[in-house]
Amino acid sequence: MDKRYADVIIEISHEKVDRPFQYKIPPELAEAVFPGVRVHVPFGRGNQDKTGYVVDLSEQADYPEDKIKSITAVDSKGITAESEQIRIANWMKRQYGSTTIAALRTVLPVKQKLRQLEHKKVTRCVEQDALEEAVLLCGRKRQKAKVRVLQAFLTDAILPYELIRQKLNVSAATLTALEKQGLIRIETEHYYRNPVKCMDREEKRVVLSDAQRKIIEKVLEDYNAGCPGTYLIHGVTGSGKTEVYLGIIEKMVSMGRQAIVLIPEIALTYQTLLRFYKRFGDRVSVINSSLSMGEKYDQIRRAQAGEIDVIIGPRSALFTPFARLGIIIVDEEHESSYKSESMPKYHARETAVQIASMHQACVVLGSATPSMEAYYRARQGEYQLFEMKNRQGGSMLPRVYTVDLREELKQGNRSVFSRKLRELMEERLQAGEQAMLFLNRRGYAGFISCRECGHVMKCPHCDVSLSEHRGNVLLCHYCGYEEVRKTNCPVCGSKYLMGFKAGTEQIEEALHKEFPEAKVLRMDADTTRTKESYEKILSAFADEKADILVGTQMIVKGHDFPNVTLVGILAADLSLNQNDYRAGERTFQLLTQAAGRAGRGDKPGEVVIQTYQPDHYSIVHAARQDYEGFYEEEITYRDLMQYPPVAHMLAVLVTSREQEQGEALIRQMVDEVNSLQRDKLFDVAEETSKDSRRTGKGAVRTWQRLQIIGPTEASISKINDLYRHIFYLKHPDYQVLVEAKDGLERFCKERELKNQTVQYDFDPMNTY
Ligand code: ADP
Ligand code: ZN
Ligand code: ZN
Repeated sequence: MDKRYADVIIEISHEKVDRPFQYKIPPELAEAVFPGVRVHVPFGRGNQDKTGYVVDLSEQADYPEDKIKSITAVDSKGITAESEQIRIANWMKRQYGSTTIAALRTVLPVKQKLRQLEHKKVTRCVEQDALEEAVLLCGRKRQKAKVRVLQAFLTDAILPYELIRQKLNVSAATLTALEKQGLIRIETEHYYRNPVKCMDREEKRVVLSDAQRKIIEKVLEDYNAGCPGTYLIHGVTGSGKTEVYLGIIEKMVSMGRQAIVLIPEIALTYQTLLRFYKRFGDRVSVINSSLSMGEKYDQIRRAQAGEIDVIIGPRSALFTPFARLGIIIVDEEHESSYKSESMPKYHARETAVQIASMHQACVVLGSATPSMEAYYRARQGEYQLFEMKNRQGGSMLPRVYTVDLREELKQGNRSVFSRKLRELMEERLQAGEQAMLFLNRRGYAGFISCRECGHVMKCPHCDVSLSEHRGNVLLCHYCGYEEVRKTNCPVCGSKYLMGFKAGTEQIEEALHKEFPEAKVLRMDADTTRTKESYEKILSAFADEKADILVGTQMIVKGHDFPNVTLVGILAADLSLNQNDYRAGERTFQLLTQAAGRAGRGDKPGEVVIQTYQPDHYSIVHAARQDYEGFYEEEITYRDLMQYPPVAHMLAVLVTSREQEQGEALIRQMVDEVNSLQRDKLFDVAEETSKDSRRTGKGAVRTWQRLQIIGPTEASISKINDLYRHIFYLKHPDYQVLVEAKDGLERFCKERELKNQTVQYDFDPMNTY
């Protein structure tokens, strides 16, 4: 009972102090100190005041009593990490590699209590007739934003202010103007409420299909039987997955359980959020990246206090501290945004499964194009698989044409548009329907190179090729370095310095030339520097202010455009030719999603895929919308090459100020792996000779099959003047890679690295 000592992790993210330090708990703080509490402690020789987290309590001192300092105070401003959060942070640290502090920061994104923020809601003030009249009037004046707001109030009497501002992309000024006209009222609430009130009190409930009901029943049956599982719903967009999520959550909530719903930020649309608000009212809360620290803190406090049942948000919503968690939903589970890009580089899908198992909760994954990982586990029987093949309402899947670009060239067509695509675009323009053109690349043109000597124009800091932009500049997309485009090659002086593949700007120009009457919008990383500009372009296109939307992969996700009946994929090969093992999967997903954009309304859709490799299996199966066909070929390749998900891979990246230092360290680390491997194999030999039936850890996980790839310079060998070296480890057993990582972490801790950092990435999503 007498826990007189506390292990404290100090809040300095540095490997040297990345271990717990033991402190005495003074008697007056005995009640206030428990795992998860943030405390003040004296630290180091000068007894500087530092803060840290209590991670454990013990009765015994690990050091002589007089050497142990005392906790000064409990931080009254800090929110306490529940012990569960600490457990998950420890798991992430081990599983993905990072400092304890970095892992704690990931699960505890807000450390400080901040002032309470006000919540605003908007209420409509006029009757239905008057509102309809106002809609018509604003429509005639072409006040599209006002029309959007007023239309929303035709069905709902009260809406959250943020939902209107962010998801309908309406300015504060527009809302104030509508308030002055007496049509709506903006109200501020100081307490937590986030209500939506429907006009017809009850939300119109759909009658669930047999397939939907079966999934809901199975998940709850397992849950109630005390064996919650992980489920994968493979269902095309519009097949009714969200309805299934709502159904399961509703049952969970009625049993007093809470739910976390992960949806990639880009797919958090007005319509989707509204469905959740309507079903769960002020018991639902939304987290997104535009929330301030204070607002995020609000949400977490509401969750901790049990004031909400459902939280919706991107990756970080996973760490919502619910005490009665019953289910985690991961929608669009294949999305790469579920993988963290900073340490610890965790995957939200796997972490969800771990968190759920700690809470005896279940996990439901959903996707139209499941990740290889999820589908493989489903095939292995680890996850239960449900298929939902048809769209609700029976709208047809689009018709897909594949065009061979080599053939176009042979026929003398030098345009970026094939004859088929041009023909279909003309049809659309005449019919007043919309088209989307998709190019997996940004900028005016890709890289610039010399056709005489082959010299490629590169960024002097980042070693990546510069992209040409309008206004005669070359731009680095990593560090923003800019230079004036030269007319002659800096190496050989020839004047054949030119770009290769087309970019979105160039497509836009070609459209103006070939379809002068068409109105065109462009969406890529350059036109969407801010979140508002992204929503603005989407709503302009939804308002049919343009006939054609040209863009990068951003346009294939999220929003529904009922009037889009044609999707053109201009060069399907661009994503195929990225140099990593996920290129085929990524291409299949992009093509399938892009194709899914066509014909979402009542009108059937058509899709044109232009490619130099019409026989590649990713393209063939995407054209047929045949997921299983794609999966079978892709998994054969992964198996043959021992790539994830069949085996596992660990990327170890060293960044350094000095190139030689980085090279030396990466070589030492590879040597260390080799010697670890020798030791392990020796242990195994020892063990097996002693007692062949004993299955100690080392014995089962034979290190024999560990492969080391590299070391080498990373494919981007320098970013912001930091050199990057890399090697990869491959093994069928994830835990072997974890053990290797542990060994490397120990190795690096012993050497106090200066001007060098080491990053670990398990089953990487990107090349380095
Ligand atoms: P997904 O999440 O797979 O894209 P949704 O759940 O959003 O699918 O469903 C697509 C559309 O079909 C929505 O408008 C939804 O209201 C409707 N819908 C879903 N299930 C049914 C059903 N059983 N009967 C009628 N309409 C349904
Ligand atoms: Zn040259
Ligand atoms: Zn650069």
